[in-house]
Amino acid sequence: MNFDDFDISDDIKKAIGDMGFTKPTPIQAKAIPEVLRSIDLIAQAQTGSGKTLAFAVPILEKLFIPDRSPQAIVLCPTRELCMQVADEIERAGSKIKKLKVLAVYGGQPIGKQTRVLKKGVHVVVGTPGRVIDHMERENLDLIGVESVILDEADEMLEMGFREDIELILASTPRQRQTLMFSATIPKEVREIAEVYQKNPKFIKISSNKKTTPKITQYYFMCDIRDKFDSLTRLIDAYDVKRSLIFCNTKKSVNYVSKHLKKEDFPVDALHGDMTQKARDKVMNKFRNGNISILVASDVAARGLDIDDVGVVINYDVPQNNDDYIHRIGRTARAGKSGLAFTLVFEDEIPRFNRIKKSNKVEKKEVPMPGEITEMKANLILNEVKKSKNLDEYIKIIKKNEDNEFSSTELAAALLKKMREK
Ligand code: AMP
Repeated sequence: MNFDDFDISDDIKKAIGDMGFTKPTPIQAKAIPEVLRSIDLIAQAQTGSGKTLAFAVPILEKLFIPDRSPQAIVLCPTRELCMQVADEIERAGSKIKKLKVLAVYGGQPIGKQTRVLKKGVHVVVGTPGRVIDHMERENLDLIGVESVILDEADEMLEMGFREDIELILASTPRQRQTLMFSATIPKEVREIAEVYQKNPKFIKISSNKKTTPKITQYYFMCDIRDKFDSLTRLIDAYDVKRSLIFCNTKKSVNYVSKHLKKEDFPVDALHGDMTQKARDKVMNKFRNGNISILVASDVAARGLDIDDVGVVINYDVPQNNDDYIHRIGRTARAGKSGLAFTLVFEDEIPRFNRIKKSNKVEKKEVPMPGEITEMKANLILNEVKKSKNLDEYIKIIKKNEDNEFSSTELAAALLKKMREK
């Protein structure tokens, strides 16, 4: 199947082509024809499944552009998702002349959003709170709305937006189309469906993008000011060798690699703006062991054959679950086990919560400097305990025991020596 099989305009097909997409994802293949038929839908799909275009494409197809009043409204749990969704709708509608899409969310001056709303928009993407705010100020009239989309419905309800959502739904025409996209279908989602949807069709897409159970995933909460310090403590405590540290921006890549270098870690950086020659040089250093830590952006790491790393560290929380899975999948290859760490500071919590939902990530504390020695020693001891055929060495230890060094002290000295290595 490809996008040509849908009953949608050439403008949209062309825009999707420009976005680089040729084949619809499973959720798009199932949902687009149904949404075009204007029926109600509950779609169970994860972030990363392509769910945004699954509703954006048919919604765009149904717009009547000469009418500049909101015809579709998308509700999202966070400001970040609002921006992302609005951007994706705009991109899919980039060939539709005079199309106006607006994201409305808290934290941005309301006046600017009001001015755009007053000029007229076709699609509003908003957080429930800010949408209500605009309705109360009479900036936003939902009387002409034909489709309401609840994106990440479970998340919105969990965040306490139920009343706002119900008020918004009740302010739209009864004959509207109501679409719910949700990663999980808890009771509250079903209750909203029962009251506000008409014979909804249920579509489920099981995410086949699962990470292997061989990756042990931890996340660490930290203060933005302590992020770098937390990173070095993790590298130290977990005795990180051959690792890949991911950052979201070139600036962040440069910051992390520069400061790790300053602290004598064997590190180098890879980012999108480097020439092929410079990248090859870094990759060679990594392959032949001259450096063991690589700091990279998603773009820079794409297509690179960096597989056998023991630890992947997300210095910045990735933008979405797809990127997360892609990043951490660089470890635990070929039957080996691996570790994946994610550092999370306050602003990244909503984004991380969405990733956490689809993955088995356990919370851990960043070790305090005083704990690091013990953690490292324990790692060595766990390895040491696997040793067999020790008779010969036991004899040597026994011979070396004297008043100054008991066998315990000899063991402690060996441990210290190994830790300093
Ligand atoms: P979403 O689940 O909507 O957050 O989408 C996840 C990612 O998949 C986004 O980066 C989209 O741009 C991308 N995407 C959406 N549709 C397709 C498609 N048909 N083929 C490839 N990638 C897609």
